[in-house]
Amino acid sequence: MSKVYLSPPDVGQLEESYALAAIRSGWVAPLGPDVDAFESELAERIGTSYAVATSSGTAALHLALLGVGAGPGQAVVMPTLTFAATANAAIYTGAEPIFVDCDPTTGNIDVDLLESLLDRLAAEQRRVAAVVPVDMFGVCADYDRLLPVCERAGYPVIEDAAEALGATRSGRAAGSFGRAGVLSFNGNKIMTTSGGGMLLTDDAELAARARYLATQARQPVAHYEHTDIGYNYRLSNVLAAIGRAQLSRLDGMIRRRHELRDQYAKLFAACPGVRLLGDADPGANCWLTTIVVEPEIAGWRPGELAAHLAAQDIETRPVWKPMHLQPVHAGAETVLTGAAERLFATGLTLPSGSAMPEHEGERVRRAIDEFLSRR
Ligand SMILES: *Cc1c(COP(=O)(O)O)cnc(C)c1O
Repeated sequence: MSKVYLSPPDVGQLEESYALAAIRSGWVAPLGPDVDAFESELAERIGTSYAVATSSGTAALHLALLGVGAGPGQAVVMPTLTFAATANAAIYTGAEPIFVDCDPTTGNIDVDLLESLLDRLAAEQRRVAAVVPVDMFGVCADYDRLLPVCERAGYPVIEDAAEALGATRSGRAAGSFGRAGVLSFNGNKIMTTSGGGMLLTDDAELAARARYLATQARQPVAHYEHTDIGYNYRLSNVLAAIGRAQLSRLDGMIRRRHELRDQYAKLFAACPGVRLLGDADPGANCWLTTIVVEPEIAGWRPGELAAHLAAQDIETRPVWKPMHLQPVHAGAETVLTGAAERLFATGLTLPSGSAMPEHEGERVRRAIDEFLSRR
């Protein structure tokens, strides 16, 4: 019996043939025709004017923040419930994160809380480089309310859509909402290049600056002149080829993840005290399906289900540990309600990978059923 992972890469023959063709073309470097094509295909899919392929989502976030001038003495406002990379990228620039609590139904940044924070920061004349909402587990943040709030305060939005490729809100694609948006193609994401990312923007200057900084800030002269400190952040052409194969399969992979979510929803429908995180959103990409368990009502704790599944070689995981609870961010500025801590204590993410064959999905559901019927 093989182990069932949370969200393993869904790659096969198509990716193999694209990678092989890229290698045989001779373009084995962090530039080449597959990088160019991958960028224009993604820009078209998301609906932005520019896309810059990077070696990771974190690198794209770093470049986007540099592009809006983030640096020492400034704050970058972000949700506390996110992956470490969101905060790391801000700190690379020398800015300091301010962590905001989340909406308990989606895990996305609490816009009421954000609004009162921005009012206070404006009154205190604090320097704020950007607001970085995260589209948690593939559900877009509440941009209908968030964008006007940030606009009124005069702060640019950098959308961390690392988890949300293929998600939409109000007819717009995740990655297109802010001054810049960022995608990740890490191995566990909805589509992968093994590692990689993309910066999306309509701002020609920001895109050009990102390209320049991502290639060691090399001036366009033969002898490699440098007037800035740059980074080696571009995506390999071979990996871009894998990305193009993945992109051609993206809609099918999203459909499979929706199917898995629907099956979990049915399984837990009759369980009082159990809900699916972000379930009401029709534009979700269903990257990961997470249940939220109120132990007082359900009569069991998510950790007990996790242990039951682990004994059958089925991987599960709590939601992100909030940034304000991370030792490395002790002392960071925060605005909290307790919602993120509650989700950390009560959430459990279930196997959600699009490569999961039907018999494995069945094995997972049978194991859950077994657990539930003993309660
Ligand atoms: C995965 C992820 C990133 C980082 O992407 P990498 O490609 O792994 O660098 C950033 N933010 C969030 C919310 C993520 O989930």
